[in-house]
Amino acid sequence: MIRWLRQGVLAVLGLVALSGMASAQGGFGVQARLTDIAGQSRDARVSIELSLSQPVPYRLRVLSSPPRLVLDLNTVVWGDAGRVARLQDLPAVKAVRHGILPDGWARLVMDLAQPLILETSEQTVDTERGAARISLALRTAKLDEFEQFAQSENSLIARSSAGFLRPDSPTERRALPLAPRRPVVMLDPGHGGRDPGAERDGVREADIVLRFSRQLREVLLRRGTFDVAMTRDADVFVSLDGRVRAARAASADVFLSIHADALPEGLASGAVFYLLGDEASDASAAYLAERHDRADMLSGVDLTRNTDEIARVLMSVAWQDTAPRARVLAEALVDGVQASGLRLHRRPIQSGAFTVLRAVDMPSVLIELGFMSSPRDLANLRDPEWGKRMAEALADALEAWHAQDMHDNALRRR
Ligand SMILES: [Zn+2]
Repeated sequence: MIRWLRQGVLAVLGLVALSGMASAQGGFGVQARLTDIAGQSRDARVSIELSLSQPVPYRLRVLSSPPRLVLDLNTVVWGDAGRVARLQDLPAVKAVRHGILPDGWARLVMDLAQPLILETSEQTVDTERGAARISLALRTAKLDEFEQFAQSENSLIARSSAGFLRPDSPTERRALPLAPRRPVVMLDPGHGGRDPGAERDGVREADIVLRFSRQLREVLLRRGTFDVAMTRDADVFVSLDGRVRAARAASADVFLSIHADALPEGLASGAVFYLLGDEASDASAAYLAERHDRADMLSGVDLTRNTDEIARVLMSVAWQDTAPRARVLAEALVDGVQASGLRLHRRPIQSGAFTVLRAVDMPSVLIELGFMSSPRDLANLRDPEWGKRMAEALADALEAWHAQDMHDNALRRR
């Protein structure tokens, strides 16, 4: 079943920060392709339709003297210039220009031969194919009506931006870090406080993973490639959502949850790297969309003023970008452990529905360093020397992944 979502221009204005903020920091970027553009004119009515490979935040403005229609999209690859130029065939359109703004937004400007007023604008999303269509319905108007509309429309847009992060607002741009910053690794030692995790021979998983996380932090900081934050640095309880929120608050670029669980004897040994499964991610998106405090689930996006459906679609879009990055991260981690001659599980990459992996715009992996239920693993887990080797292996892996991720990012942006 194909379900089309409808959203008016005001709803869309609330989403303007989806990719601009994050991409300025080298994070995820939602980049759609323009697959088609068509204009139609009948009597006093003009309609314009843009077909896109995926939904994007957009904003529309009507400017007077001379009359112009300005459509900004975040972010769209224009592709074939001739396709866009076709809009000039409309009698109401004198000339068309398009390009990319310095902040990454794509802009389409139509110089109007006659004043046009916007009647409706909406973006519909085909949730099965992921494609989107932006439809503008316009009608010709007298010049004074147009001038009035241009004024009111502009003030409407200015008002609706209050409280939103808008990449085009000077205050928000100033708030962005200007100097390139080090990527932030969020280490999440599992369990803690009233939740000891697995226990064997008087050893608690919560203590083992905290000690290891501190070792890994030290190695990473010494190398100087990353900044490091931790969800806990003491034997305290932190909720699962609280861990993801902490990562968000630290503007983390990558999230590693560290564990050393126990399974029934003999079932598991060696390191395993868990990703959020695709099915679980769909369920997560729905779950997150329904949550009251979803504002912090996607960086830079205020989802609180949007419907669950739109929030869910935007999170799915972000996940499309993040899932392959997390997969590359898990593969790099496996390579790192293998290269160091440390023990790997026979299926070193697995997936599951872990709450701590639910951030849709931050590659996240849950690491089982080993299993306390395996005597050999337990001996390793208790050995600080082994911990140091594992920390160096994971640091190698993070560096390799980051280099790959930057490379992939550059390709995606091309
Ligand atoms: Zn655990």
